[in-house]
Amino acid sequence: MNYVFPPAPTATVPVVGSTAQFPVHRIYCVGRNYAEHAQEMGHSGREPPFFFMKPADAVLVVPPGSTIALPYPSLTKNLHHEIELVVAIGTGGKNIAVDQAEQHIFGYAVGLDMTRRDLQNDMKAQGRPWCIGKGFDHSAPIGPITPKAAAGDVTHATISLQVNDAMRQNSTLEQLIWTISETIAQLSAAWELQPGDLIYTGTPAGVGAVVPGDTLRGSISGLTSIELKVV
Ligand code: MN
Repeated sequence: MNYVFPPAPTATVPVVGSTAQFPVHRIYCVGRNYAEHAQEMGHSGREPPFFFMKPADAVLVVPPGSTIALPYPSLTKNLHHEIELVVAIGTGGKNIAVDQAEQHIFGYAVGLDMTRRDLQNDMKAQGRPWCIGKGFDHSAPIGPITPKAAAGDVTHATISLQVNDAMRQNSTLEQLIWTISETIAQLSAAWELQPGDLIYTGTPAGVGAVVPGDTLRGSISGLTSIELKVV
């Protein structure tokens, strides 16, 4: 193949217990998937899941045992953290049945859906797309992916985010409104899933702002924790 300039490198995420990298195809995100977070955002009830996307190269890999710099993005005065379970798709498909969904999962990781909340709210108020609030550079920090077999049953895992050692978000994956399998089924009705897709499955209550100098520590039991410092 002959290109007019070198193509951008594929975004990749390390895999626990392997030297092989997970190549990222797309990043899908689920909105309002924990009841208490839906309430804090002004909504209630079990509405159908809705989705938005981030560019694949928005991933910011956090290697195990290290603290990575998270650049404070431009244009915002209200950068929010959203701790989320990330599901990594290993086998693609469309119109996947709920009871078949787990077979499409490669593994799981701890991720952050960083959000320029002021810009998102501006766009919401005007009925415009949220991209500027959600899909900016480095907006998708992620830790190493633990393969499904090694992760065990994540459906009862605890999920938490600390900022400067203060607990901000603390819940369990049992609180998901739409289960992992239901999310995969719904998403695959709208897009044909591909190996390499990442699904950020939504955040529990307690979202809030961070500022330069803050240290974020995100954990899900059974998975590799992530630590970032806002710079
Ligand atoms: Mn989110």
